[in-house]
Amino acid sequence: MRIAILSDIHSNLEALNAVLEYINDKNIEKIICLGDIVGYGASPNECIEVLLKLSPIFTVAGNHDFGVLGKTDIIYFNEIAQIAIKWTKKQLDCRSIDYLNSLPLTSVVDEAFIVHASPGSPDAWNYIFDIYDAKDQFQYFDDKICFVGHSHVPRAFVFRKKSSSVEIINEKKFSVSDADCRYLINVGSVGQPRDGDPRASFVIWDTD
Ligand code: ZN
Repeated sequence: MRIAILSDIHSNLEALNAVLEYINDKNIEKIICLGDIVGYGASPNECIEVLLKLSPIFTVAGNHDFGVLGKTDIIYFNEIAQIAIKWTKKQLDCRSIDYLNSLPLTSVVDEAFIVHASPGSPDAWNYIFDIYDAKDQFQYFDDKICFVGHSHVPRAFVFRKKSSSVEIINEKKFSVSDADCRYLINVGSVGQPRDGDPRASFVIWDTD
């Protein structure tokens, strides 16, 4: 089965539609969304409306989603993010608020752990940037794969059980079938990439 994994849409309807158009003929049977649906961009309600029409879809909440709901303190957000949260709050209709309120912080889909920021402390919104951050996180989930977003930088880490070592995977296409390995994969951002490549980033996971 092919599963598309999207994160950090950030109210960017054009980017979301571009991704959905791209995966339309890729035999995708399931969609996972790793949160930060809103914040920064101009179309929060429209993006939620698009997600509500996708099925099956499995979504977890991000810090911006929790921020607009008042479920997390936005004092720790940067100034632009705070302005965006306050603006988004005014735009959201009841259906969008209900939807964001319904999202869990973590979930397991097809034996993959999904969380917006980190499996170790899902509501602390810590970033996983390097090997040291990643190595610490493998103890906090039991599944073979964990998918995260939050940093807006696509990056995959592999944990080798025998040597207890962690490396970065540089290939854009790689196998996750090695029995000795577990994987922590940041899928990047659909709506606001921060890796120097303005194109939307996401992952297609082939479970077969
Ligand atoms: Zn984000």
